[in-house]
Amino acid sequence: MSTADEQKPKYEFHYVLQCPCGETLTGLTEDEIVEVSFAHLGEKHPDMAYEREHILFMAQRLIKPPDA
Ligand SMILES: [Zn+2]
Repeated sequence: MSTADEQKPKYEFHYVLQCPCGETLTGLTEDEIVEVSFAHLGEKHPDMAYEREHILFMAQRLIKPPDA
């Protein structure tokens, strides 16, 4: 049996939401992408009423590029 490897994640993930207006919103956590999206919606699309669950539904969890 091999010794227990400390498996550190090779990749970090982040959340990416492609807004219909073309803006790409990113956050490192669910809370962050929701916060960033609310801020963007409030500024650019004040008439769009998205809730947290809508944002999380649309957001994709992607591998974060190494240099970011
Ligand atoms: Zn937008």
